[in-house]
Formats: sequence, structure tokens, C-alpha cells
Amino acid sequence: MSKPIIAIVGRPNVGKSTIFNRVIGDRLAIVEDKPGVTRDRLYGSGEWNGRVFSIVDTGGIEIDGEDEIMKSVRMQAELAVEEADVIIFMVDAKAGLTNADDEVAQMLLRSRKPIVVAVNKVDNLNRRDDIYEFYNLGFGDPVAISGAHGMGIGDLLDAAVEKLPEEVEDEYDDDVIRVALIGRPNVGKSSLVNALLGEERVIVSNVAGTTRDAIDTPFERDGQKYVLIDTAGMRKRGKVYESTEKYSVMRALKAIERADVALVLISGEEGIIEQDKHIAGYAHEAGKAAVFVVNKWDVVEKDDKTMHNFEKTIRDHFLFMTYAPVVFLSAKTKQRVHKLLPVVQHVSEQHAMRIPTHVLNDVVSDAIAINPPPSDKGRRLRINYATQVAVKPPTIVLFANDPDMMHFSYERYLENKIRAAFQFEGTPVRIFTRKKS
Ligand code: GDP
Ligand code: GDP
Repeated sequence: MSKPIIAIVGRPNVGKSTIFNRVIGDRLAIVEDKPGVTRDRLYGSGEWNGRVFSIVDTGGIEIDGEDEIMKSVRMQAELAVEEADVIIFMVDAKAGLTNADDEVAQMLLRSRKPIVVAVNKVDNLNRRDDIYEFYNLGFGDPVAISGAHGMGIGDLLDAAVEKLPEEVEDEYDDDVIRVALIGRPNVGKSSLVNALLGEERVIVSNVAGTTRDAIDTPFERDGQKYVLIDTAGMRKRGKVYESTEKYSVMRALKAIERADVALVLISGEEGIIEQDKHIAGYAHEAGKAAVFVVNKWDVVEKDDKTMHNFEKTIRDHFLFMTYAPVVFLSAKTKQRVHKLLPVVQHVSEQHAMRIPTHVLNDVVSDAIAINPPPSDKGRRLRINYATQVAVKPPTIVLFANDPDMMHFSYERYLENKIRAAFQFEGTPVRIFTRKKS
């Protein structure tokens, strides 16, 4: 199921990042830093009234001078309009309505996306009158909030979540493997789509996905059904902002949310750059199966160690994703492209694998016997019981006397033991420790 996106749009300093942080709470934000941009772009997830969503703080384009303000504000608004399902248009009660706000409003008016106006910095109830001028923006009732005091955030989320599109149940059957190709511009995503489809001589039909603008490409090979997520988006080119990182990131995020398996494309020609790590990180955080695809292998000068060395470089750069297999290929010459889908099928199975509780417990108790859990001030962590509570990704809960005593390193140790026994190749494994009730 696709996770909808709520974007926070507004000129600098109105309080976007303050609100963003309140919405995500202590959930992890994906921080993206780009040279030349002083503030990070942020992507996180939130939940309200049982709806889960991604939230994007669109702010962060550094500005200088009035013209630049207008330009950057317009740009971020355009980006948000393109990808968001609901837009929170944030303004500042203290500053009142400004030209830049009008500029954003003009842009948003042309879109048909649902918009909620959030008037921030209404720090006390006596100032509620300050919100009236914002009716002039033409987007209905503004919601008064104070990021500083955490007031009105619930009302704001009520209004935003209510405008999210209806929840659509999964549009594909369980036996279809949903694959997202992700990677920075020019790594060869479109070429790989074509190579995969061309090679198979399959009957390709395009069906509109439930997400606006996304077109999925289903096909079948060796009796296995696949769907490539959002491939039309990849082919859509030429917009001014296409080249910006944020645009491709939002698109990748959406595709990842809907996928089972993420193919993380890396250019064998150019090597690994910071952006590749961010993109791979989204797949990991989203709990998707992942395969590293090193493309453009045709142009790499090789000897018998090149592949091994490149794989080692990948391992060094993506320490958190040692589970993901690496496939070297060339979308252009189609060399080794046929090796990819069997790997996709394999990691997809691993992603959905369920280990019976007694088998899992045997492995966990053996691991505990070899290397006992940490102790502190005479107390020792006791793990009584382990059970897999979910698949996609495999999620394991350990019931223990005192979950706070669990260490990251011990959790790592157990994960390694669990992987040694069951592999879970290509998929993250989530482990939680809960108090035995
Ligand atoms: P952004 O540039 O839109 O992301 O804005 P920030 O979240 O960085 O906030 C800009 C400034 O406004 C910071 O100094 C915040 O502390 C301040 N601020 C944010 N929310 C409130 C609020 O509700 N009341 C007041 N008085 N200040 C706020
Ligand atoms: P995307 O932006 O990730 O969709 O990348 P494209 O598929 O548009 O490819 C970007 C450029 O890389 C194009 O010029 C392709 O012809 C080229 N390219 C893609 N795959 C390969 C490959 O395997 N080998 C070589 N040499 N070039 C490739």
C-alpha cells in the first residue's frame, strides 16, 4: 500500500521544521544534506488517527535577496505540488500575510491538491484574531498553531489527514513481486527497465497505479509475476526541476513505499557517491528487500579482482545493508541482465519468510547460551522468548525482563545468529525487545 505524502510548504522562518519535528516525534528523519544548501531537507513518517504518512519539510533552500526568495519558494512549492497528496501551507501570524505568501498561494491555487493553511506562532489564545487575514488566501479555514508550544498540532493533523486520499488496499495480488528501481539520475534506471522488458519479449501493458502520476508495468517471467513500480515517471523528463535531488527523492520514496523489492542502482562507471547512500537508506528504513545493481559494467575496465573489489567498496559504504546481494550488469549491452530477476525472486521470498516460533527459539536460546546477554550492576538481561510477529520485513520480538538493558551490540549479535541460521538474504530484519508481561 502506498504511503501518502504530506508536504509542508511555506517561506523560510515560518516554522516548518519546528512543526515537522513535532509531527514525526521521535521517529527517525531522513536527513539529506546537499552541498550549497545550509539546511537539510527532511523526510520522515508520521501517524495520526491511524493513518500513516510520509511528511516532507520542503524548506531549506538557502536564499539571498528578494528575487532568490521568490524563486526558491516557488520551486519548493512546485515540488511539493507535484508529489504531495496534501499540502500544509504554513504562514506566520507574527509576520502577517506577506508577498511571498501570496506568491506561494498563487502557485498552490493552480494545483488541485488539497491544502490546509497552518498559521503558526499563535502562541497564546488572545492572538487567535491574527489568523483572520489568512482567510484571504482562499483555502478555507486556517488552523491556528504554535510550534513553540505544541498547540493546535492535533487540529492541524486532523485537517490534513482528513484530506488524504482514501486508503486503497493493495492493488496487486500477493503473488506479484513489486519492484522499484531507485537511484540517482543517470544511473540507468530507464535503460534497465527497457532491458528487463525487452529481454523477455513479454506482453507489456501499462496500468495506472493508484498513486497519481505513477504508471506501473506488470510482466511475467518463468511463471513469476512482477510489476515495475512507477516506470513511467522515470521516463518523464524535461521539467525544470527534474534535475533537483528533492524531486527524484520524493519519487523514489513513493515507489519504495509501494514495492517489495528495491533495486538500488549504482553506476559502475562513476562509483558510489553520497546520494547513493541516502537513496539506499530509504529502502532500508522502509523495511524493503534490496539488491544492489551495479550498472554500466560494460565500461568498467576489469580484471579478475574488479568485481570482488567493487563489492567490497559497496560493503564499506553501506554498512547497514550487508544483507543486500550485489548484481553486476549492463543495461546497455544486456550483459548479465538475465541474472537479476532470479535474485529479485529470491530476496522477495526471504523478505516474506516466516520462521516457526519453536525453531526461532532454539536458535535464540543457543545464541544466548554461547554468549549471555549484557548485565549491569548485578542485573542481567533475561530473554525468555522470541517470536516472529511480522513479515516484509521479518520482524522479531524478544520478550525480556528489562528491555532497557538490551544493547545495540547484543541485538546485532542475535541478528547475526538469526541470519546464520535462516539467512534472510536481501532483507532487513527488525528486532524489538519488549517486557515480558
Ligand atoms: P522554517 O524555516 O520554516 O523551517 O522555520 P523554523 O522551524 O526553523 O522556525 C523559524 C523560527 O521560528 C525559529 O526561530 C523558531 O524557533 C521559531 N518558531 C517556530 N515555531 C514558533 C512558534 O510557534 N512561535 C514562535 N514564537 N516562534 C516559533
Ligand atoms: P536514469 O536517469 O537512471 O533513468 O538513466 P538512463 O537509463 O536514462 O541512462 C542514463 C545514461 O546512461 C544514458 O545515456 C544511457 O544510455 C546510459 N546507460 C544506461 N545504462 C548503461 C550501461 O549499462 N552502460 C553504459 N555504457 N551506459 C548506460
